[in-house]
Amino acid sequence: MEFNEQIVASVVEKVIAALNRGPECESGDFTGLVDTVDEAVEHAEEAQKKLISMSLRSRDEIIASIRKAVLANNEVMSALAVRETKLGRYEDKVRENILCATKTPGTEDLRPLALTGDDGLVLVEPAPVGVIGALTPITNPTGTLIHNSISMLAAGNSVVFNPHPSARETSTGMLQIIHKAITDAGGPEGLVTGVRQPSLETAKQLIEHPRIRMLVVTGGRPVVNVVLRSGKKAIGAGAGNPPVLVDETANIRRAAQCIVNGASINNNIFCTCEKEVIVVDEVADSLIKFMQETGKAYLLTPDEAERITRLVVSPEKKINHAYIGKDVQVILRDIGVELGEEYRLAIFEAPKDHPLVWLEQMMPVMPIVRVRDVEEGIRFGVAVEQGNRHTALMHSTNVNNMTAFARAVQTTLFVKNGPSYAGIGMGGEGHTAFTIAGPTGEGMTSARTFTRSRRCTLVEAFRIV
Ligand code: NAD
Repeated sequence: MEFNEQIVASVVEKVIAALNRGPECESGDFTGLVDTVDEAVEHAEEAQKKLISMSLRSRDEIIASIRKAVLANNEVMSALAVRETKLGRYEDKVRENILCATKTPGTEDLRPLALTGDDGLVLVEPAPVGVIGALTPITNPTGTLIHNSISMLAAGNSVVFNPHPSARETSTGMLQIIHKAITDAGGPEGLVTGVRQPSLETAKQLIEHPRIRMLVVTGGRPVVNVVLRSGKKAIGAGAGNPPVLVDETANIRRAAQCIVNGASINNNIFCTCEKEVIVVDEVADSLIKFMQETGKAYLLTPDEAERITRLVVSPEKKINHAYIGKDVQVILRDIGVELGEEYRLAIFEAPKDHPLVWLEQMMPVMPIVRVRDVEEGIRFGVAVEQGNRHTALMHSTNVNNMTAFARAVQTTLFVKNGPSYAGIGMGGEGHTAFTIAGPTGEGMTSARTFTRSRRCTLVEAFRIV
């Protein structure tokens, strides 16, 4: 689906009008939004009690209804997300929402464990936690909300969301759509809730609220650290800086296509996107040539690369937020380079100490670093990943090289011979997650992540063999 300004503008007008009315609700209906964190927690607590008194079949129906409503409202919400946050690409937001609606597991993810022996039976079940507090990022205001809602509800919880304030309209809009889908399917009001005006202050109140049993944060390193200091059970999905390593045995043409597609999706704002290329010297020229031949990657001259760097990185070595998630045309225009609509990514050769190699740029500007051999590439890849334990990628046909990098880099996701988004289930096997918990170790989260383990022992009975 192509981005079209006029279509986007017209659907956004409609959704803003609809949200102002309250999304397709009779006046007086509860839409999931309240004024205070206390009220939100109260609603969520009541709703959670009702949810766990319902059958699992009803829970499945609620989740099916959420998936359907998300898909029905996808184009409008994707357009709104781009318009409000000014980050990413409309057509990629559409893909993200489809992925979250269709590949986030439901209750089938909850697997009990049964052990039997001479002393009888023990059953270990993944049980609900209660009310979860979730902080969601500006980069994926819809995807995270969809994925978190399905996963947390499937596990029998309710959730109070505190979205990024700069994605308020989109996030509270999506929350209301999900809330309505739940009640349409016979679920209780308040299973997903949040305040109308989320802020850092309401985030703090949520983090400190005594009746919030678990905190889940999807965001940068500082907020993950805040939540980890809360004294509560916390799941932290933090920042990454995914290196992609290309060795001399790789299918270079394919590697080039994968990197261009992976690094440019949503203008590089997925935390999983390739953020720097590390390539063995002997194949570096052909990799760059094949990247250019995709027709989507523009090779910056050394002078343009220097000017772009000054534009997007401050003297204090901080990313200039004004350029995060912008189209490559918008970024290059500001150094006087006009690019055709077909371009998605700017690439340039960079020295090892270039700031864009070390910073999480989240924009379609990609440094390429040459290394002598694969061993040096592995060492450098580990260094630039900086212990985030997030994502790393490799293009190679040498199993030993791939094993060596995977072992050394220790990331939660390791993608071989594909674009980064294959690692989150987009054209790759496995379920999706938009809360990838590297710092706390849960990895690609799903319903079972949002549970606590309960064990039931039956003495001297029920072993039937
Ligand atoms: P952010 O850290 O600025 O904000 C994330 C959330 O935390 C927001 O809701 C924000 O309001 C809240 N928040 C921020 N600082 C806070 C504080 N001091 N106290 C309380 N709440 C606070 O991140 P962002 O800019 O919204 O998102 C981009 C970042 O998130 C990138 O670093 C990206 O890599 C990361 N991310 C990670 C994943 C993952 O699954 N690991 C997924 C998406 C994004």
